[in-house]
Amino acid sequence: MLRMDGFRYLPARSPDEAVAHWHGHDAAQYVAGGTDLLPNVKHRIFKPRHLVGLAGALPRGWETRPGDAGEMLWIGAGTTLSALARMAEIPALAAAAGAVAGPQIRNMGTLGGNILLDTRCLFYNQTEAWRTSLGFCLKAEGTWCHVVGGPKTCVATQSSDTVPMLLALNASIRLLGPDGLRELALRDLYRFNGMDHLQIRPGELLTHVIVPLPGPGLRGSYQKLRTRGAIDFPQLSVAITGTFQGHGVSAVSPDLEIVVGAVNPQPKAIAGLDKLRGQALDDAMLDQIADLVVKRTRPQASTHGDPAWRRQLAGVFVKRALARLRDGQAVPVEA
Ligand SMILES: Cc1cc2nc3c(=O)[nH]c(=O)nc-3n(C[C@H](O)[C@H](O)[C@H](O)COP(=O)(O)OP(=O)(O)OC[C@H]3O[C@@H](n4cnc5c(N)ncnc54)[C@H](O)[C@@H]3O)c2cc1C
Ligand code: SF4
Repeated sequence: MLRMDGFRYLPARSPDEAVAHWHGHDAAQYVAGGTDLLPNVKHRIFKPRHLVGLAGALPRGWETRPGDAGEMLWIGAGTTLSALARMAEIPALAAAAGAVAGPQIRNMGTLGGNILLDTRCLFYNQTEAWRTSLGFCLKAEGTWCHVVGGPKTCVATQSSDTVPMLLALNASIRLLGPDGLRELALRDLYRFNGMDHLQIRPGELLTHVIVPLPGPGLRGSYQKLRTRGAIDFPQLSVAITGTFQGHGVSAVSPDLEIVVGAVNPQPKAIAGLDKLRGQALDDAMLDQIADLVVKRTRPQASTHGDPAWRRQLAGVFVKRALARLRDGQAVPVEA
């Protein structure tokens, strides 16, 4: 059995109280559902002296509010993944939430925790005894990356299932700090550094995720590769959104977005699609888009699965999904 070291638990009843607790106590961390944080505490990767409990502090559920660019869906960061998986407003986001882990974890895990979960690596998400025997690594207590084979770069993977879809939907997040609220585009949240992948200020609290409400004809798909369909993290994920109206859509949609996740510290929106928009979406174009995705996807060996195989599979996922979206068919989540 893995035992946690002692810490003081500080339950917060409002976002402001949570931020005040975090800033008023040393070595503090937020805990929402705890499904990512507590295993890391048990593995002594994190050693908090204070845990600020968010269960009674964060907004849950979602509502539509008017925004500058049309109707926006405001989703509370405390919304559980199982609730989100039942959302009718954006079925592709519901599918991505429903692909996280298994039912028990989705009942506890929150959207906020999913967006901010730590990066993962085969050499890092291990018990302290396991890591001691290998000699630790750059991300925690060591000086060497066992994946890259060097002393500088960490390529631990951003592995949230909802994030590629939220990026494809052009979502933003609302953060609360001691100086007040601010909004950040989700595309500006992540950077390519597995040791420090989040561009937020210390102690900022994620309160809401804001998603433009999709217009008519916007469809999406989320596909995930994992070892065990019942519970595992992704080894590769592909989110696609675009306007696919009716059966047999004949052109590349002007708002097509493809985001590849679970291969790097930073999820990647595929660049270069703008040149193809409006051209015929025939089988040759499906190959061209799939080739572009393979070219721009460089998986790391920080997670399970041969990187070269996962890279090729990104193209397979994209081609399969686009063909089905074009032909008005559903896209299954599992490979
Ligand atoms: C066996 C297993 C399988 C899993 N499989 C998957 C999977 O397939 N896909 C996947 O995406 N995830 C998976 N997870 C990870 C995790 O369950 C989910 O990502 C979940 O959404 C995390 O949410 P949480 O509320 O439990 O976060 P927590 O564990 O409570 O927090 C995660 C991190 O975010 C911070 N945090 C949480 N909420 C806020 C907030 N509102 N503001 C600021 N900081 C905050 C915490 O301090 C912590 O650093 C798995 C976990 C386990 C144990
Ligand atoms: S990528 Fe390297 S430094 Fe980062 S967690 Fe893995 S082994 Fe450690």
